[in-house]
Amino acid sequence: MKLSDILSRADRPLISCEFFPPKTDKGEANLWRCLNELRSINPAYISVTYGAGGSTQDRTKGIVTRIKDETGLSPVAHLTCVGASKDDLAALLADYRAAGIENILALRGDAPEGMDHFEAVAGGFSHATDLIAFLREQGDFSIACATYPEGHPESKGGVADDIRYLKMKQDNGADAAVTQYFFDNEAFFRFRDACHSAGVTLSIIPGIMPIGNFDQIVRFSSMCGAGIPNWLRQQMEPIKDDLEAVKALGIELAAKQCRELLQAGVPGLHFYTLNKSEATIAIRNQLTDLL
Ligand SMILES: Cc1cc2nc3c(=O)[nH]c(=O)nc-3n(C[C@H](O)[C@H](O)[C@H](O)COP(=O)(O)OP(=O)(O)OC[C@H]3O[C@@H](n4cnc5c(N)ncnc54)[C@H](O)[C@@H]3O)c2cc1C
Repeated sequence: MKLSDILSRADRPLISCEFFPPKTDKGEANLWRCLNELRSINPAYISVTYGAGGSTQDRTKGIVTRIKDETGLSPVAHLTCVGASKDDLAALLADYRAAGIENILALRGDAPEGMDHFEAVAGGFSHATDLIAFLREQGDFSIACATYPEGHPESKGGVADDIRYLKMKQDNGADAAVTQYFFDNEAFFRFRDACHSAGVTLSIIPGIMPIGNFDQIVRFSSMCGAGIPNWLRQQMEPIKDDLEAVKALGIELAAKQCRELLQAGVPGLHFYTLNKSEATIAIRNQLTDLL
C-alpha cells in the first residue's frame, strides 16, 4: 500500500522498521527471520536502505520486491543520488514501477568511501529536494524524505537550514519525513514546533535507535550529528562492556522515550532495527496502551 494512504487512513500511531541489505546468505536468512518475528507487532511498513555500491543497490531492489511479493508487508525502498545520473534513476524507478513498488524514501546520500564530501555525478542531483521533484515527475510514487531534528552535520545555518529544506521537500512532493535518530525529546519537540511554524504539514515520524552497543552508537552519532545527552552517557558508560546490560537499558530508555513521544502526538515511530527484531518488539510491547 502507498505510504500516503497508510498515513491518511491510520487511526492510531504507526510502527515502522528499517533494515539494511545484508551482504551474506547468513545475514539474508537473519533478515527474513526478523521480518517474520516483527509481524507480531504489525509494522505499517518496512523500509530498506540503499548503499553506495552497485551490488548493495541491487540487493535493496531484490529485498523490497520479495517483501512485497512474499510477506504482504508494505515496503519502502530508500534511494539516493550517489553515483547516479537522471537516466540511471529513471531506469531503476521503471523497474520499481514494474515490480509494484509504490514507496520511495528519497535521499541525497553520503560521499562514497574514499571521498570526503558528496559530489553529484554529471547529469545527477546534488540534493534530496531535486530527487524528490524528479520522483514526482516519474510516476505515482509515495515519497518519504529524511530530516534532522538536531541538524544535519553539513547544515551551515544549523537546524534552521534543515527546517527550510524540509519545507522544500514537502513543496516538491514528499508525503512524510522520517527523522535521524535522537535521544533528546526536547530537541525533537522544538524542531517539530518550528517546522509547523514554517508551514511544514507532512507527517514527521521520529526515528528511534534502541541502543545495543554504546560504543557503536557514540561512533555513529559523531558521524550523523545525533547528540548523546549527559544523562545517557552517565547511565551507559559504567555498563558499556556488558552488552546484555546495555541491551536491557537500551530497551528501557527507548520505551520511555517512545512513550513520551506518543503522548505528545507523534504519528508513528520508525525503528532503526540494525537487522534485529528483539529490541523493537520488546519496546513496542511496552506501549500497548498507546498504540
Ligand atoms: C531516515 C533516514 C534514512 C536514511 N537512509 C539512507 C540510505 O538508505 N542510504 C544512505 O546512503 N544514506 C541514508 N541516510 C543518510 C543520508 O543519506 C545522509 O544523512 C545524507 O548526508 C543526507 O541525505 P539527505 O537526503 O538528508 O540530504 P539533503 O536533504 O540533500 O541534505 C544534505 C545537506 O544539504 C543541505 N541541503 C538540502 N537541500 C538543499 C538545497 N536544495 N540546497 C542547498 N542545500 C541543501 C542540507 O541542509 C544538508 O546539510 C538516511 C538518513 C535518514 C535520516
